Amino acid sequence: MNSHPRIAIIGAGPSGSTCSFFLSRFQIPHVLIDAAEFPRDKVCGDAISGKALHILRKMDPQAVSNLQGKAGFTDTWGISFTAPNEKRLDIPFKKEKKEDDLPVGFVSKRLDFDHYLFQKAQSPLAQIRTNTSLVGIQKSSTGVLLELKKDELRETLEVDWVIGAEGERSLVAKFLAGYRKEPRHFSAGIRQYWKGVTQCHSENFIELHFLKDLLPGYFWIFPMSDGTCNVGLGMRSDRVSQGKVNLKKELDRIIEEHPQFKERFQHAEALEMPKGWGLPMGSKQQTIAGDGFLLLGDAAALIDPFTGEGIGNGMKSGWMAAELIQECWNNGSWESLPQKYQQRVFRSLGDELRVSDFLQRSLDFPWLFNAVVRKANKSPLLKETLICMFEDVNLRQQLRKPKFYWDLLVK
Ligand SMILES: Cc1cc2nc3c(=O)[nH]c(=O)nc-3n(C[C@H](O)[C@H](O)[C@H](O)COP(=O)(O)OP(=O)(O)OC[C@H]3O[C@@H](n4cnc5c(N)ncnc54)[C@H](O)[C@@H]3O)c2cc1C
Repeated sequence: MNSHPRIAIIGAGPSGSTCSFFLSRFQIPHVLIDAAEFPRDKVCGDAISGKALHILRKMDPQAVSNLQGKAGFTDTWGISFTAPNEKRLDIPFKKEKKEDDLPVGFVSKRLDFDHYLFQKAQSPLAQIRTNTSLVGIQKSSTGVLLELKKDELRETLEVDWVIGAEGERSLVAKFLAGYRKEPRHFSAGIRQYWKGVTQCHSENFIELHFLKDLLPGYFWIFPMSDGTCNVGLGMRSDRVSQGKVNLKKELDRIIEEHPQFKERFQHAEALEMPKGWGLPMGSKQQTIAGDGFLLLGDAAALIDPFTGEGIGNGMKSGWMAAELIQECWNNGSWESLPQKYQQRVFRSLGDELRVSDFLQRSLDFPWLFNAVVRKANKSPLLKETLICMFEDVNLRQQLRKPKFYWDLLVK
C-alpha cells in the first residue's frame, strides 16, 4: 500500500458527511460518493439528540447557536414518555444547569439536517460524487475494487480503504463484513408527516408512547415549530413477523381510534403516505472493520435499541474513524486501523448500547415500566436521577442492576 492510501467513503448521510468533514480538516484527501442528489429525504423520526449536537460542536463551536431558530430546526427541551398504563412522565433536559440558552436537541427534517451536514463536507480535499451508486465491491490484490454506476455508465474505482456509510442496505457491510440481517437485532419503522396535531408540549418535548398493545414497539409524535409533526411507529422485526403486525394499519388505528390520540388528530391532516425503512440495532456487536474497510453508522448497526436513535452514533463513528485515519496517516502504519476502530467504537458506545438493549428487553415486563413512571412522578429525586441518566452513561448503568428496581419498588 502507498504511504498515502486512497480512501473512499460510500454514503454522504450524517455518518459519511461527518467522516468526510473531519478527514478534510485533517488534510486527508478522499472521495465521497452518494447515490442521491442533496437535499434528499430519509425516513426518520428527525430527532437530533445531544450526542449529535456534541459532534456538531466539534465541527464548529458556533454550530448549535447558528442553527437555533433557523428555518427547518426546532429546539426541543425534553422527552415525554407514556408508560403502558398510559401514565405520562415528562423529562425536561437540564436547562437550568446550562450556562447558555442553547437547545440540547433539535427536531429537523432529514431533508434539512442532512443537507446542512453535506454542505459542511464540501472541501477541496473531498472529491464529491453524487448521483453515483456503489453496485459491486470486491477485494483485489492491490486494494478494494468499487463498481460504480452513474446514470447508465459503469466504472471501476480502486481504493486502499473503503468506508461503508451507506446505511441500512450497505453493500460494504454485506460483502466485506459478512453482515446478515437478524430480525432480533433489526427494527422496522414508518414515518408520516402531519400538520395540525394538537396538545403538543409548549417546549416541543418529543413524545414516545409505549402503548400496551404495541410493545415492545412505540408510537412517536415529534413536534416542529412550523406546526407539522413527525409521527411514526417502530417495532423489532422478529415481533412484527411473530405478531403479523401491519405497521401502516397500526398507525392508522392509533391515530383514528386510540382514546389518547384520536382527539389530537381530529382536525389534523396527513401530509404524505406513511413511509417505511429499517433500523439495524446495536443490540449485537458486529464486525465493523477489517482488511481495507471500516463501517459507520447504520452500516455498522449502531442504532440505540431502546430509542431508535442512530444519527448521533453515526456521526460519532464518523468522527472516530477520521481521527484514527489521521493517526495512521501521520505515522504511516495502517495494519492496526481495523482493530483500533472496532475497539474504540465499542469502548465508547458498547455500554450504552447494552443498557439500551436491556431496556428494550424489559418492555416485555410492562409493569416495571409502569412502576418507574409512577414512582418518578411522585419522587423528585428519582425524576432528577432519570434526567441525569440521559447525560451520564455511567449512571444509566444503574438501570441494569436489580438493586435499582428493588429500591424503586420497596422504598
Ligand atoms: C422510522 C425511523 C425513525 C428513526 N428515527 C430516528 C430519530 O428520531 N433520531 C435518530 O437519531 N435516528 C433515527 N433513526 C435512525 C437514523 O435514521 C439512522 O441511524 C441514520 O440515518 C444513520 O445515518 P447514516 O449516515 O449511517 O445512514 P443514512 O442516513 O441511511 O445515509 C446513507 C447514505 O448512503 C447513500 N447510499 C445508500 N446506498 C448507496 C449506494 N449503494 N451507493 C452510494 N450511496 C448509497 C444514501 O443515499 C444515503 O445518503 C430512525 C430510523 C428510522 C428508519
